[in-house]
Amino acid sequence: MAPSIIAIDGPVASGKSSIGKRLADRLGYLFFDTGVMYRAVTYLALRKLGKAHEAEAVTALASRVHIDILPPTKADGRDSTILVRFGEGPEHTPEDITWPIRGKEVENNVSLVAAVPEVRRILTAQMRRVGLRGRVVMVGRDVGTVILPEADLKVFLTAPVETRARRRFEEVSARGETRDYAEVLANLRERDRIDSSRAVAPLRRADDAKVLDTTDLSVDEVLAEIEQLVAVR
Ligand code: C5P
Repeated sequence: MAPSIIAIDGPVASGKSSIGKRLADRLGYLFFDTGVMYRAVTYLALRKLGKAHEAEAVTALASRVHIDILPPTKADGRDSTILVRFGEGPEHTPEDITWPIRGKEVENNVSLVAAVPEVRRILTAQMRRVGLRGRVVMVGRDVGTVILPEADLKVFLTAPVETRARRRFEEVSARGETRDYAEVLANLRERDRIDSSRAVAPLRRADDAKVLDTTDLSVDEVLAEIEQLVAVR
């Protein structure tokens, strides 16, 4: 039987999202990119609080916000639509934050938000609830270690930071955004550093994860390797 819960973890721009999305589509599973949730809280913190580094205020915000991840509602290159709202009732209209959460300001602050233990507790509970329904490909930093340690298949993607920075730079440029390669590289390094060294649920591979170095592999080749793992299980 094909594994029902598939966890893919790895550092920034290791290919988790593009590969996870395609794998989920092939299997007919739900694709859940957990980074979106931390990005959403960060975006709202910056907008509503003007900053993202006050743990208590950010936690209060995380506990009130509803984040919805839907199939794409527009054909503008998105692979899902991300909506947020602050409560139930007609006065709380959902806001489409699909593109704003990909911006530079969010990327410069998201690892700080993701290092707040209470924020992690709130979001992890929501992710786990969705994951336990099964037929899911969930991608992030701590899916195999903390969110869903019982996952049926765990994959950890790696590649040198320069390779990942180049990929991210090309992706951002293709969207028409102007960012320096050096700036992208610096952001990746800093996020990797904070994500790997935080006290709660740091980025690390689960002991039972299969490690795939994607340096010399195309997306299709990585996908083929993972599909083989899916098939032999
Ligand atoms: O994967 P993505 O780059 O969109 O994630 C954004 C940030 O969210 C990461 O740099 C990390 O700080 C945080 N994150 C996390 N745990 C996850 C997924 C993302 O801490 N499971």
